[in-house]
Amino acid sequence: MCQHLCGNDAVHSALHAIDRRKLLGGAAATAAVLAAAACTTVNPDTGREQFIIIDESQLQQASLQAWAQMRQQVPPWNNAAAQRRVETVGRRVVQAAGRGNQNWEFVLFDSPQKNAFVLPGGQVGFYRGLYQISERDDWIATVLGHETGHVIGRHAAERYSRDMATQIGLEVVGTQVNSQLAMAALGLGAQVGVSLPFSREQESEADILGIQYMQRAGYDPKQSIPFWQAMQAGGGARQPEFLSTHPDPDNRIQRLRNYINEQGWGPV
Ligand SMILES: [Zn+2]
Repeated sequence: MCQHLCGNDAVHSALHAIDRRKLLGGAAATAAVLAAAACTTVNPDTGREQFIIIDESQLQQASLQAWAQMRQQVPPWNNAAAQRRVETVGRRVVQAAGRGNQNWEFVLFDSPQKNAFVLPGGQVGFYRGLYQISERDDWIATVLGHETGHVIGRHAAERYSRDMATQIGLEVVGTQVNSQLAMAALGLGAQVGVSLPFSREQESEADILGIQYMQRAGYDPKQSIPFWQAMQAGGGARQPEFLSTHPDPDNRIQRLRNYINEQGWGPV
């Protein structure tokens, strides 16, 4: 979109200039701020303007690396029936989201966590702990709709861009930290010991996109309510990714309720 202005070098020097505002004085810093501000792009699927400084091919490459690392570290859950069920629901949801023609991979991991994650390359991880409380296909569709929402919302790219800006602002530029941040930005914080949750706004956007997709796919969006209630009840000490950025899960449920009723899919 703004490739010329938004090459990593341009952004890096712009952000460095912002950081050195005191040394540079007004004019150069202002020019740098304007250059960085030019790096916004409108997401065609959401209409929302986003600050993104990583291009799609870098993101796909990083996803493949992160995915390989994840699969080395967490054992698969070999359950053919569960695999079929998650895959079937997943295919229907991404098809309904208009992304049936891109690569998606659905893998079950043998972990008791009630969690799931997605990488920007369409690799979806679904943990045994979450599967075991997923009483209905509508609940699996709620999760997979939400994860698809993160991909279509370009949330990892946005988070990476934000964190890169913060990192440069702090002048932490070692390559080790860089790659750790990149991995964390892609959603693999637990693996690299850096926790970078999606923002509350991104979680909210993923929720709403998710129930749109599940509804289009023929699942019942009203079922997202009991699903999140079950998650809330079973959250325990270690909050899953979906809940961690929501200090008040009741707000999330209320927002979904309102949206469902506004759409005429209710009442809930
Ligand atoms: Zn999420």
